Amino acid sequence: MKKIYDLIVVGGGPGGAIAAKNAAELGLDVLLIEKRQEIGDPVRCAEGVSKICLSDHIEPDPRWICADLTGSRIYSPDGTMVEMSEEMSGGEVGYVLERKVFDRALVDQCARAGAEVRVKTRATGLIMENGVVCGIYAMHLGEEYEIRSKIVIGADGMESKVGRWAGIDTSLKPTDMETCVQYLVTNIDIDPQFCDFYLGNEIAPAGYLWVFPKGENMANIGVGILGSKSGDHRAIDYLNKFMKDIYPDGRVIEMVYGGVPVSGPIEKTVSDGLILVGDAARQSDPITGGGIINAMEAGKIAAEVAADAIKRGDYTTDTLNEYETLWRSTIGKEIEYSLVVKETFVKFTDKDLNHLAQSLSNVNFYSLSLRDLLYALFKANKKLLWDLRGLF
Ligand code: FAD
Repeated sequence: MKKIYDLIVVGGGPGGAIAAKNAAELGLDVLLIEKRQEIGDPVRCAEGVSKICLSDHIEPDPRWICADLTGSRIYSPDGTMVEMSEEMSGGEVGYVLERKVFDRALVDQCARAGAEVRVKTRATGLIMENGVVCGIYAMHLGEEYEIRSKIVIGADGMESKVGRWAGIDTSLKPTDMETCVQYLVTNIDIDPQFCDFYLGNEIAPAGYLWVFPKGENMANIGVGILGSKSGDHRAIDYLNKFMKDIYPDGRVIEMVYGGVPVSGPIEKTVSDGLILVGDAARQSDPITGGGIINAMEAGKIAAEVAADAIKRGDYTTDTLNEYETLWRSTIGKEIEYSLVVKETFVKFTDKDLNHLAQSLSNVNFYSLSLRDLLYALFKANKKLLWDLRGLF
């Protein structure tokens, strides 16, 4: 008789690796598959992550930490700068990672916890019986075969197909997606202690431009613009202009293209025998596009719910719905909150952004909570405060 795994995880990014590791630690028989031949490569990320949230999942290791930051600086279109402590700066500021090494370290953890890992193995479809997911079709070195399991976790990232195969609507409209392009730039003079964010409709319409240091004289410099705003100018046009104006001597040694979901929570992330995690479940932050921490948090919750379902021998939507409840009441709350702020932010003119930045120039961001910060931010503009009243 063919083997039936307890759990198959599709995708070896942060969401999939943490799901597989936790499930293996809880005693499940786990298979993780990754379509690429190398975990974590090519990188499609600015590699910024909050230190506190990360330490819940993996011990910090200098092999994958490129920069240890003290804070971030936000520049409005007229150049007014607002500086914030690392703790105040959200889920993307803390360390700048070397994700090729970091992602591999996460998968190494899950392999050591007992999960089986197969690289260069692509999921090509779901095995469905009476509407229930019972495993996957996989392709390895040109050969297609079936792998059966009690539960499948789809952690297959932004371009996820797993959810769609099970009939879950994960489609994104242009307004639900940031189009990003990033250079790894060397030979530049930067402050290795700070992440810089540049705002403005001439810089990054309905998005932002970032400079994330990767050590001395090197940084990830990228731009994300809302899909619906990429009309006459592409994201790369904005990035090239910034490079010419600010870092004319910079030398580009790597280039990354990618999309980031900023839709906020989708309606459904489970079905019979299936759980979606991370970018596949559209769990990235709608303001920043950051998704590493949320993918890891969701992966951990998914593993715990899967382990409980296996123990009960019940993999139906009713049982797996516990995952919906848990992620929506934790990271989901933050995502909802960010969505409200994003929907207001995308309507800002450059004048609004300058006005807000100027009104904040005397605020001490090293001692405020996030809610205090937002309050201070919008106090200067009563209309914005009214739009965001639900947050306070
Ligand atoms: P992924 O990391 O995308 O992993 C999915 C994995 O699934 C991939 O390895 C893929 O190869 C594999 N896969 C896909 N399909 C299949 C298949 N059919 N079979 C097998 N394997 C499959 N987030 C931050 O927190 N901080 C940042 O600074 C940041 N910067 C970003 C900059 C850019 C330009 C972009 C595009 C994104 C950025 N993000 C950032 C977002 C972040 O990269 C993602 O949110 C995060 O990687 C999501 O993790 P995940 O595990 O859900 O998906």
